[in-house]
Amino acid sequence: MSRRVAGREPVVSDSVMTDHGERYAEIQRLAELLRAGGLVAFPTETVYGLGANALDADAVARVFAAKGRPATVPLIVHLAAVEQLPIVTSRQSELALRLAQAFWPGPLTLVLPRASAVPDAVTAGLDTVGVRVPAHPLARALIAAAGVPLAAPSANPFTRISPTTAAHVRRQLGDRVDAVLDGGPTEVGIESTVVDASGERAVLLRPGGVSVAELEAVVGPVQRPTRDGDAALDAPQASPGMSERHYSPRARLIEVERDSRGQLVLSPAPGEASAWGLVRMVGGDATPFTGAAVDQRMPQDVTGYARRLFAALHELDEAGCEVAYVERLPAGPEWEAVADRLRRAGLRAADRG
Ligand code: AMP
Ligand code: MG
Repeated sequence: MSRRVAGREPVVSDSVMTDHGERYAEIQRLAELLRAGGLVAFPTETVYGLGANALDADAVARVFAAKGRPATVPLIVHLAAVEQLPIVTSRQSELALRLAQAFWPGPLTLVLPRASAVPDAVTAGLDTVGVRVPAHPLARALIAAAGVPLAAPSANPFTRISPTTAAHVRRQLGDRVDAVLDGGPTEVGIESTVVDASGERAVLLRPGGVSVAELEAVVGPVQRPTRDGDAALDAPQASPGMSERHYSPRARLIEVERDSRGQLVLSPAPGEASAWGLVRMVGGDATPFTGAAVDQRMPQDVTGYARRLFAALHELDEAGCEVAYVERLPAGPEWEAVADRLRRAGLRAADRG
């Protein structure tokens, strides 16, 4: 059986739709909203996205307005399946296809030469476009039902914490979004890895849900842009999303460590802060701290930590924390994406205040 959007071929196997049979009517209604130029927040395996028809410049303009996002930061285009790639990209290198085959559907965004159907607003005027096929079945069902690729940045106001639940989206965007498709908490918890695959070699633009080690196992050495010296990064819009302050809770985040007895040393002391919180690892000393408004016990494995990270930061905001102490992360390359998000959430070592 085939469920077709009028005049369009279905691009995703019907199982994507029938697996969500109970939500079929809801997905059709939201797809209609998207085709009419509306904004629909939807779950992906990374974070919730704020979706709009990627081929409709007016709808895309509404995404920027809803987020308060500067026009210089491009949006990621979400596809239901790899077969939609030629709609939004003009050239698919062998490198790109290998990466797509290995990691799609999944948390990897590929930057490729854009097709003319993609409005300037999506790419911030760049001649490349960021694309991915998300792994969340509701996301793919929604994109397939809409029949068009969806431009979807994270569904949060610019520079604020990315949403990993529908409640985060509603709290931060309210009626700036026309509808929210609720798929429960997201699985990966941090954004996709962004790789420029428009050239000969893969270049890492943003660490994320797929680790560099995983990428390198498929395509060999992945290049890293340096902050200075790399001509490609001179223009601010060529390194979008690399901007410093990005995933910020209201609290000032201070990195702390344990003393020789395994107790966290909160330094400098919370002092006058009306509310303060802790984000520490499970294990180690778990003595409660008097006065902590939030005490997050984070999983010790990177997958579990990433999944919890943004929810933990949202809880600091909800409790009105002005200061939060974050236990130093374990060492190791697999922590790169989590460390990147915490750094851009403002985490600083105590001595730098
Ligand atoms: P998000 O902030 O979750 O909406 O993710 C959007 C990010 O994807 C941007 O901030 C960039 O890091 C990246 N991106 C999207 N399109 C491009 C592009 N054409 N070139 C480079 N990076 C891109
Ligand atoms: Mg974002």
